Amino acid sequence: MKVHDILIVGAGLAGMRAALATSSHLDVALVSKVHPVRSHSVAAQGGINAALGDHDSWEKHAFDTAKGGLYLGDQDAIEAMCREAPGEILDLERLGVIFSRDGQGRIAQRPFGGAGAVRTCYAADRTGHAILHAMYEQLLKRRLFVYEEWYVTALIVENGACRGVVAWDIVHGGLRTIGAKAVILATGGSGRVFFTSTNAVINTGDGMALAYRAGAPLEDMEFVQFHPTTLKDTGILITEGARGEGAYLLNTLGERFMTKYAPEQMELATRSTVSLAIGREIAEGRGVDGCVLLDLRHLGRGRILERLPQIRELSLEFAGVDPIESPIPVRPGAHYQMGGVKTSQWGETELPGLYAAGECACVSVHGANRLGGNSLLETVVFGRRAGTRAADYVRGAAPRTPSEETLRREQARISALWANRGPDRAWQLRDELGKVMSFNMGIFRTRQTMKEAFGKIRALKARAPHVLLQDHGKVFNTGLIQALELGFLVEIAETIIAGALAREESRGAHYRGDFPARDDANWLKHTLAYQAPDGPRLSSAPVTITSFPPQ
Ligand SMILES: Cc1cc2nc3c(=O)[nH]c(=O)nc-3n(C[C@H](O)[C@H](O)[C@H](O)COP(=O)(O)OP(=O)(O)OC[C@H]3O[C@@H](n4cnc5c(N)ncnc54)[C@H](O)[C@@H]3O)c2cc1C
Repeated sequence: MKVHDILIVGAGLAGMRAALATSSHLDVALVSKVHPVRSHSVAAQGGINAALGDHDSWEKHAFDTAKGGLYLGDQDAIEAMCREAPGEILDLERLGVIFSRDGQGRIAQRPFGGAGAVRTCYAADRTGHAILHAMYEQLLKRRLFVYEEWYVTALIVENGACRGVVAWDIVHGGLRTIGAKAVILATGGSGRVFFTSTNAVINTGDGMALAYRAGAPLEDMEFVQFHPTTLKDTGILITEGARGEGAYLLNTLGERFMTKYAPEQMELATRSTVSLAIGREIAEGRGVDGCVLLDLRHLGRGRILERLPQIRELSLEFAGVDPIESPIPVRPGAHYQMGGVKTSQWGETELPGLYAAGECACVSVHGANRLGGNSLLETVVFGRRAGTRAADYVRGAAPRTPSEETLRREQARISALWANRGPDRAWQLRDELGKVMSFNMGIFRTRQTMKEAFGKIRALKARAPHVLLQDHGKVFNTGLIQALELGFLVEIAETIIAGALAREESRGAHYRGDFPARDDANWLKHTLAYQAPDGPRLSSAPVTITSFPPQ
């Protein structure tokens, strides 16, 4: 059995940044269920925030982030992220990221929602692609080993500490124990809990569920961001960068309806405000075929082709609409999980030897609503911090070979799956789950819709271990991976609903029709969910307020 110093689960931006931050004297490896450059970070479009401009400062960035998150973010972590952002952007550039330029040859920046300054650095509308590929080149240069297309099914916990993982080799088949003195989770988001989602099918909340099953708490899971503009019928993201460049939102009457909801910020109000506004317009009959319209025509052909080429391509290909000539039909869709594995500012979880960074973690910097451009920033800042801290932790620690007990348990679980007789298939239950969550746990929630969702998800949880696997082959058995992911998805869905039911207020992305007001007196606190035999056991933790008292 191989025992590494540090094993990083996930090779997206957070995982790669963590790996590059560790010392070259350590034995560091990464595990990824897909080839590293297929990690979902590659899909990020609009950009990454940093206060680089003469009229901006990290303090202003921190204020916007705290305010945009409705004061639920921990301000010490927010300050760390915003203070370190400019240095991180320059580091990325030195690593080879080709950012778009302004007329003076400096890194160009565009306006994004909820930001009081023009702060979002970008590489056209393919920012994630540009950063991920540059980072991957560095990974190759460092000759870091990647378990490519391996799927982690469980964490190994012995003597109260994380000692490695059990993983399925997707290419050849078979389970293996991979030992490590420290494990960093960087497994990305859980957007596929919802049916209408901007996320790739691989975003199934695995790391969050792995930590939860191992006893670490999940924080603020009820806060799921619904992006205001996803392409009709597909959930494909139309970046906020489009509104940053000046696109309008119109209803069926041709009105720029944001005048009613956010007359000052208009289309660049925070995502939760814009999503709620679109939801209202559609619900009150002023939508267009279940959508509203995003109008870019006045930007002109040249600017659309230069700054938003991918958006044009996606609209043409998936909706048959050329934004140079016609408005794009859009509606809100699940986009980002603000919650995740509870960590310190250095990526430490409550389980010794286990760290988390990126979208799977909750540091927490986004609070109740993430500002666009802050997530890519979070992956690199807190990926680096988690890598640094894990390296300190393992220095001098003796390698300990974990027992094969977790492996045997996982082997038994997979054998039981293969013995199932059906009738359900994993993809059917995943569809059912997504539809329940999109319908009952979307932009508008009430006790009744959430209770109904809870009942349905519990029933799905009971059916999930019995799904039929038609393919009994070991090589590239995608049915098996889907079935394992389904187990994670239902558990994540349960924590979202439990947190949302408990939180009797509206704040940011969590809007309750039965409690429409924000309630700082009772709810300016984090929700924590621990795994228990009957479902999530909830508790709470205080929010760290430093410089910005809630307004
Ligand atoms: C369409 C879209 C556009 C976006 N645009 C922006 C933007 O412009 N600006 C911004 O700030 N944010 C944006 N975001 C959000 C941002 O892209 C993500 O939050 C961020 O990239 C997540 O990075 P990550 O490293 O945490 O995870 P990911 O990049 O998703 O990587 C996760 C990794 O974990 C691995 N993994 C997962 N589970 C397992 C398992 N069980 N076993 C082994 N490996 C596993 C995967 O293979 C992958 O390598 C966007 C999000 C979407 C969906």
